[in-house]
Amino acid sequence: MSLGRVLLDKGKMAIIKSILEDVPPELGYPSVEFEGPYIVIYVSNREALAKYPQLAQHLAKKVHKKIIIRVQKEHRLPPSEAREKIMQIVSREVGLDPIQMYFDDHTGEVWVKAEKPGLLISRGYLVIVLAETGWRLVPVRKIPTESKAVNDVINVLKTHSEYRAEFMRFLGERIHRDVIFKNNYVRITALGGFREVGRSAILVETRESKVLLDFGINVGAADSPGKGYPFIDLLKIDELDGVIVTHAHLDHVGLVPLLYKYGYRGPVYVTRPTRELATVMIQDLIDVMKKSGKYFPYGEKDLATMLVHTITVDYEEVTDVAPDIKLTMYNAGHLLGSAIVHLHIGMGLYNIVYTGDFKFADTRLLNRAHTEFPRVEALIMESTYGATLQESRTQAEEKLIEIVKRTVERKGVVLIPVFAAGRGQEILLVLNSAIEAGLLPKVPIYVEGLVNEVTLIHLHYPEYLNKKIRDAIFSGQNPFGGDHVIVVDRPANRADIVEDRPSIIIATNGMLNGGPILEYFKLVANDPNSALVFVGYQAEGTLGRAIKDGAKEVPIVVENKVETIKVQLEVHSIDGFSGHSDQRELVNYVRAINPKPRRVVLAHGEPNATDALASILRRSRDVRQYVEEVHAPSLLDSLCFIIS
Ligand code: ZN
Repeated sequence: MSLGRVLLDKGKMAIIKSILEDVPPELGYPSVEFEGPYIVIYVSNREALAKYPQLAQHLAKKVHKKIIIRVQKEHRLPPSEAREKIMQIVSREVGLDPIQMYFDDHTGEVWVKAEKPGLLISRGYLVIVLAETGWRLVPVRKIPTESKAVNDVINVLKTHSEYRAEFMRFLGERIHRDVIFKNNYVRITALGGFREVGRSAILVETRESKVLLDFGINVGAADSPGKGYPFIDLLKIDELDGVIVTHAHLDHVGLVPLLYKYGYRGPVYVTRPTRELATVMIQDLIDVMKKSGKYFPYGEKDLATMLVHTITVDYEEVTDVAPDIKLTMYNAGHLLGSAIVHLHIGMGLYNIVYTGDFKFADTRLLNRAHTEFPRVEALIMESTYGATLQESRTQAEEKLIEIVKRTVERKGVVLIPVFAAGRGQEILLVLNSAIEAGLLPKVPIYVEGLVNEVTLIHLHYPEYLNKKIRDAIFSGQNPFGGDHVIVVDRPANRADIVEDRPSIIIATNGMLNGGPILEYFKLVANDPNSALVFVGYQAEGTLGRAIKDGAKEVPIVVENKVETIKVQLEVHSIDGFSGHSDQRELVNYVRAINPKPRRVVLAHGEPNATDALASILRRSRDVRQYVEEVHAPSLLDSLCFIIS
């Protein structure tokens, strides 16, 4: 036994003992390591593993931790032999790529690309391959067009695999340390995104640990740290146990790389799609800020450092993030991979649910937000639309189809500005299903900008989408595509594209203040047969907002000169495609959540929205029966909950 083992905390010793009791002796002399939130058992006799396919599940149940079984380094086949063996073992139906296999010596994992990665799990190949070769399969979905973001993330992890292995061990020791203080309070502090939208950040502290929920940037004030960033000066970065990010929008994730620039070397917890989407969004933000020549505090290096420290979790999988805090993420219905965060604190005596941004209604893409939790004492909830009602999705779809139909009949161009993530994919689904149902003729749909990269990430993670879309993707279809959907990656031919009439153009950016959509707008603004349709929020001060509010002439920079452009195309605005819950859905969520919270804390809303929702909740007779207090904290406020 090594000195390190002798000095292990009591809690860790107990876990190791409990595990070793149930590991069959014929697996050899196993070693047990704490790697991040996982407990990894390294065995020497790999062949015997085939006899115990349920061992990991059994141990996980016994010690309430995620268990990974790996084979000790000297008992693995050399990669070239292992590759051949894996190809022999795995059925052709799985569509395994023999070229794209990456053997990670530091962990004993082999990353494989497969057309049907689900089969590797459901048919038990993980255990068979481990027993036959000593390598643990990590399946990645292979799709016809590869996503750059998915490959970028894999490459960063490959390059830093040795460091990552070290980091995971260091983190494992930290997470599973013995608790010194018995918990008697939980304190949350509003570091950003309260009584405002943008720069979301919440610090959660107990006597033992500290975690951060989201760390976003207000993109509209990205060059102004005082307004655009959360109160980073209040954080003691080296004391943080972890950062938990609900979803990939920049107002929730945009400044996480800055923590690394300032020396943070702890984990970030996200779902897998959030990791990839955040990479795309952050990379784009860095590029935009670089081009604009404005001050921006971090770069690609810090993004890569973030990725190396990122730990992905699945929905409804319990993960230890500190000795007294367990994290579980649930579907939030807002964006691919978006999560509602449940924190189980101090032996489960205090439970916080943080919704992040959420949609409490089904959309074409996602199921509505999750409502069932093991326990809830406090609910921290967004209030973006706390003062407004939205039209229903059905009304919104009918409106969009009607506008497109009329424009097509006039042989015009329909311009739809979208943000890269979420709306663009949903609009494609609406148009495709209308074409399929014969409600619209099959006209070309041009898609330009980051929307395409984001669509590929959707195709990578069908398991996060609703059943209909998921099943379509599993059966080999691309519900976002079709022979009429044209991906534009060479922007030189935009003038030709607007001559291809009638047609629909979906492009970034969503508020018309830049991006390819602005170039298309310049080309068709003076055409009364064409139409511009807003399907997302238009912020104050943007070109989109000015046009939406009825401006008939707008100044636009063309080749470094300001030109006045006449707005002669039709302008429409549809608000029913929002990824946020409206007032009714927000109130209904408080009614639906089970079990009932005693406190509701409102975040992420302009003051009038937050206050309107607070007063409805305080007045509502049924809500008052269980919610003792509704808080609407200001920036820098702290709330302290005593655990009794
Ligand atoms: Zn969001």
